Amino acid sequence: MEEKKVKKWLAGVGTAVLAVFLLAACGSNQTSGVENSTGKIHVTTTTGQVADVVKNVGGDQVEVTSLMGPGVDPHLYQASQGDIKKLNDADMIFYNGLHLEGKMGEIFEKMSKDKATVAVADFIPEDMLLGTDDDSNAHDPHVWFNIQAWTHTVDAIEEELTKQSPENAEFFKKNAANYKQELEEMDQYAKEQIQTIPKESRVLVTAHDAFKYFGHAYDLEVMGLQGLSTDSEYGLKDVQSLVDTLVDSNIKAVFIESSISEKSISAVVEGAKKKGHEVVIGGELFSDAMGEEGTEEGTYIGMFKHNVDTIVSSLK
Ligand SMILES: [Zn+2]
Repeated sequence: MEEKKVKKWLAGVGTAVLAVFLLAACGSNQTSGVENSTGKIHVTTTTGQVADVVKNVGGDQVEVTSLMGPGVDPHLYQASQGDIKKLNDADMIFYNGLHLEGKMGEIFEKMSKDKATVAVADFIPEDMLLGTDDDSNAHDPHVWFNIQAWTHTVDAIEEELTKQSPENAEFFKKNAANYKQELEEMDQYAKEQIQTIPKESRVLVTAHDAFKYFGHAYDLEVMGLQGLSTDSEYGLKDVQSLVDTLVDSNIKAVFIESSISEKSISAVVEGAKKKGHEVVIGGELFSDAMGEEGTEEGTYIGMFKHNVDTIVSSLK
């Protein structure tokens, strides 16, 4: 090539490289900014419980999208293409962790390379966590059912939001303090109310093992037909052993969960009936999913109160 032509060719390459560079820069700008159109921090969460803490701490400085609505089971949840977009578009991601979202681990790992991707349960002191029944070192993920433990996620979220938006540090701090006060009051309420159930009747039977933290915190015995995850079929043996327990301990009520089919717990009720023992369904509890948005049960404190009141009125 002649010298002139080489220069021209090099200039062309330079322009192309610059164009690619600019395109890439624009692309990353769209997803990385607190500097988005509303000026708010866009947060995407998995469960409603986590979303609720972020909303309470972040106030009008956050816009929160929760992937898992009412009735959704997080153990089995598979992210859709739409969910991936919501995670991609977010400035920050908060999820429960401890393998609650059992099928989303790889996605969180990928997202964490681009943005704050925070498992809130990681901030709960280990001595407050409960183990699993198998010999593994894994922990029970249903941590939101011990308010004292869950309160640590408020601090964690305050800290992480402050990192993202330091100018709002005071605002987040004040909101977190107010919310922790509300949680403290609900914790007291739950303790007082559960105490009104006679000790021998404080047995909570549900479709899966979501309530161990609740039982631990408020002094109830808990039994689930399925284990900690719903990712296993319950067997006839489990139904039979639960029926025997109901009959032997003269337990009068069992509970369904909003995120799990009634079928399994109905089998227990039927089984007890065959043995001449009358058991009623004491009501529906919110376990892994919260209620409809806009209702009382669509908030963490509201769903907690609903559960306490439902349990107390059925077992008392
Ligand atoms: Zn669960």
